[in-house]
Amino acid sequence: MNENTLSIRLERVAAHVPAGARLADIGSDHGYLPVALMRRGLISAAVAGEVASTPFHAATRTVRDNDLLQRISVRLADGLAAIRPEDHITAISLCGMGGETIRDILDNGKAHLSGAERLILQPNGGEQPLRLWLMQNGYRILNEEVLQEGRFHYEIIVAERAESVTYSELELYFGPLQMRTRSPAFLAKWQHKLRHKRKTLAQLAHAQQALPDAKVQELTQQARWISELLAFDILHAV
Ligand code: SAM
Repeated sequence: MNENTLSIRLERVAAHVPAGARLADIGSDHGYLPVALMRRGLISAAVAGEVASTPFHAATRTVRDNDLLQRISVRLADGLAAIRPEDHITAISLCGMGGETIRDILDNGKAHLSGAERLILQPNGGEQPLRLWLMQNGYRILNEEVLQEGRFHYEIIVAERAESVTYSELELYFGPLQMRTRSPAFLAKWQHKLRHKRKTLAQLAHAQQALPDAKVQELTQQARWISELLAFDILHAV
């Protein structure tokens, strides 16, 4: 992967960035996403934010090597603190981090959000708490996608501020749009998760050291939800 050839995952994220956007890519690492989008003429300005110095220098190098220092600002900052009002950011991408980390970055950085930005989020796990934060903070999920790259399944969640919306427990767990679209990648992800949860439950049943009851109950309930989803019954429960 480089600024010419993105991974399948980042290519799908790129597809959700509106044409002409002023993008803040937070946790940009090597800066490939904003540089690729700028090279393709798909965004008009960008900020690449990084909290750690090695990726910050890597992003600076990618931007400089592509002669884009005038159009992409690389900033060493924690989360949304990389964004300044004069950037007039219209889209924010937060990709390749745990859902809880993305949630915390959004929550800690609320002061830097105008409310008009499109959020393009690609959590690695922790989708449920991230969707809960979106709901509790007045965001509506506009688009969702599950994709597979190699052995891994990734989710992309696109959200914008809207009139308040309420998602059920199941919608927060599976994704309100995905659970209706039921793409092949989505079904494959949940088949894989169900196998994993059943295996964990079987191991726990044989283990000497018991897990707290609440944890076992949570796992059992999730396994039931997933079996029902895969059997298609769950839509009746939404
Ligand atoms: N976004 C790229 C992608 O999806 O390929 C890079 C993902 S990389 C696994 C996660 C990056 O997020 C790391 O470079 C890390 O330093 C950065 N990061 C983690 N927490 C951050 C924060 N609070 N603010 C800015 N960057 C952060």
